Order: sequence, then C-alpha cells, then structure tokens
Amino acid sequence: MKKTLTLLAFLGLLLNGFSQNPDSVFIKTIFDIALTSRVAYHNLEILTNIAPGRLVGSEESIVALKFFEKYFNELGADTVYLQEFKTPAWACDSSSVSILIKKSREIHLTCDALGTSLSTPPSGIVAEVIEVQGLEDLEKMGTEKIAGKIVFFNRPMKDTFVNTFAAYGDAVDQRAHGPAEAAKYGAAGAIVRSMTTSLDDFPHTGSSRFKDAKIPALAISTLAANQLSQELKENPKTKIRIFVKSRDLPEITTYNLVAEIRGKVRPDEAIIVGGHIDSWFNSPGAHDDGAGCVMSCDVLRIFKELNIQNNRTIRAVLFMDEEMFQAGGNAYADFVGQSGKRPYLALEVDEGAFTPEGFSVDASVSIVQKLHSFKPLLEPYGIKYIIKGGGGVDIYPLKKSGVPLVAYVTDPQRYFDMHHSGNDTFDKINYRELNLGTGCVTTLIYLIDKYGIE
Ligand SMILES: [Zn+2]
Repeated sequence: MKKTLTLLAFLGLLLNGFSQNPDSVFIKTIFDIALTSRVAYHNLEILTNIAPGRLVGSEESIVALKFFEKYFNELGADTVYLQEFKTPAWACDSSSVSILIKKSREIHLTCDALGTSLSTPPSGIVAEVIEVQGLEDLEKMGTEKIAGKIVFFNRPMKDTFVNTFAAYGDAVDQRAHGPAEAAKYGAAGAIVRSMTTSLDDFPHTGSSRFKDAKIPALAISTLAANQLSQELKENPKTKIRIFVKSRDLPEITTYNLVAEIRGKVRPDEAIIVGGHIDSWFNSPGAHDDGAGCVMSCDVLRIFKELNIQNNRTIRAVLFMDEEMFQAGGNAYADFVGQSGKRPYLALEVDEGAFTPEGFSVDASVSIVQKLHSFKPLLEPYGIKYIIKGGGGVDIYPLKKSGVPLVAYVTDPQRYFDMHHSGNDTFDKINYRELNLGTGCVTTLIYLIDKYGIE
C-alpha cells in the first residue's frame, strides 16, 4: 500500500511537472482567451450580415474589406494596408433551369450559374438533355450525339470516401472541366449535379474553367438532379430550358488586406496567417471562408491581448478572389517577390470552422519534423496530427519562392453540406469549434515564432 502511495505521489509529481512546463502553462492562457471570447464569432456574424455574396468585383467584397480594415486599425495593429491589384472578374445577375412538361407547363429546378458561365439569350435555351456520368462519356458519344443538346453531368460525390475532400476531388472535374469539354462537342449548355454530400435543394456553385468556346453552365441541387434523371428515364426526349444572365468584367481593381504586428527581433521574417475574404455570389460564406478571416484576425488580437513579445512579424493576409481566379494569392506572391522579403512561413485557414483535427505541412522533411515536435503541446486541444501534406490555394503561389506552407485541417464531414451554397450561413457556425480552431492556430504560430522551424 505504501509502495502504491509512493508511486502515485511520484506520478502526481511527474504529471504536475508536465503541467508546469512553461509552454503548456502559457498555451493554456492562449486557449483561455480564445475559448472565452466572442470577438471572432461576433465578427463573423457581422460579416455574413453586411457582406454576403462578396464575390471579387462586387460591392459586398469592398464592404468586407472595409469592415476588416477598420477592425485591424481599432485593434492597434502596427501596419494595416490594402494591397492593390487588377484582375478579370465575372458577375451573375440571375439564372433558372426548368423541365418542359407541356407547352404551358414548366417544373423549376433549383439552380445557380457556375462561374464564369456565358449568358443565354433572354428567353433562355431550350434543348434536349443528354445525361452523362463523366467527361469520358463525351468522347464516346461524340459531336453527333452532343451537338445542340444540354449535357447533364450527374455523377454524385461518393459516400464511400471517409474524407469528403477526397470525394470532392473525385467528382469535381465534372464542374471544373465538364462544360468546357461539352462545348468542344457543340453542346448548347451544361448543367452539373451539385458538389455536395447532402441530398437537399441547395445548388452549390463553383468555378468552371473555359479556354476557347464558352457556353452557359449551371449547377442544380442534388434533389433536382435526381428529379431530372428520373424524368429522363421516363422520357429520354425531355427538353429543359436554361437561362443565365451574367457579365464578364474584363478588368477590375481590387485588394488583398494585410495587417501585422511587427517582430521585435526579426521583423523581416513574417509569419503569415490568412484566409480568403471573397465568397460566391449565392453564399454568405460563413465557413468558406469568413471563418478563416475572423480566425486570422483573432490570432493578432490574442497576441496583442497577451502582450506577446513576438520575435518575428505576425501578419494576417485576407486574400481576395480565391474562388474564381485565385488572383489575390497570385498578386500577393508577386508583391512579396518584388519586395525581396520572403515570408518566413504561411498558414492558411480555409476548411471551415469545424472541430480541429490537425495541420498539414508543405515543406522540407526537417521542417515537417520540427512542426510535428510541437504536437504534444496541442494534443490536449484536439490536434491529432501534424503531417506532410498540402498548404492551401491562396498561399500556394508562395511555394515557388520556397516559403514553407501550412494548412489548418478540420473535421471534414459537414463542410460540403454548405460549400459554395446559400446554406453556408452564420447559424451553421459552432462558437466552440470556431474558438478551438483559433486557439490551435494561434498556438502553432506562437511556437513557430518562439522556436523557429530550422
Ligand atoms: Zn474557401
């Protein structure tokens, strides 16, 4: 018994010793602030209210920029500026898809245009539909069967993938390249089953890449896709009407927003944390990526609130136009390239404000190992892994200058319920999940700043 007690006392001492580790103690204070504050949550509520549908080139995108610029200034960041650049853009005014039943009857299907769809004539385009399961079907069918028809890409995201990002990657070629491929065979238009794991009536838009010939292209909800597919089984000659009113904006002036707390020892070595400020025209963009923006803002707030004497500069970058052309990420990489001041590291937050899972690191093995050595300090807060993997769309252009890239990774099960749709609303944000994420990101940045990555 005595032996057991001694052992317990020893274990207690040991555990106490761990909890007294200065880093653990300080990280607990980071999380205490992150978990008990409503600042980021409140900022996201305001953002989604005042600037839903903040696609690059829209008035809402400027409202969002001004909102965060004001926030950073009031926070007392050392530097706050808008980095100007020019880019083509596109805007959608309205769209519709309907099944023609009889001359006077049409069944409306829930839809949104895909970026950067061509407009139809004002009365729309009426044509027969040819349903396919993928791009490879187009080659088999050829121009003879496709010309003049509307191609309907209807391969669902597979439920068998545990990681929904893998399911998205497996299906999204239909949206990204399907319409352009269909155009090559003379299709009059294209519609795509929404890229979502949900069976509901929300259309999920996204970018569709055209090279030469452009055609009208739309996403329909998964319920609408099932309905249309059923209709085609019963009557293969079914006709639909598609309508899109959109505008190409050849060149607009827009901005990335940059705010920083200068480093006290190595100010030229900037650690970037960021997300994208834009969202699709149909979406309040709460998870994608309003969450990444407010979390990045909150990293700076926590550094200020704890009066952390950061060695390196902590720099938030809110990138414009991740969704259509990734113009902001490219413009930012060009901008820092010209300045000759390569960032020390860049971390992107763009997978929604769900329960934290880990970090993926696009860098050398030794840097991955160094970041992985921080994992025990983050495990109590839900971080399961820090492993080699992708960085992120906005920070990817920095890779060519050798900047180590990190992505914050969350539980992926619900992300595609909302992604690029009107369902990505503030009420889908969980206050605790958002704040846990901010704590994890702030802590990793704190450790990178304190210990370096070499
Ligand atoms: Zn995003």
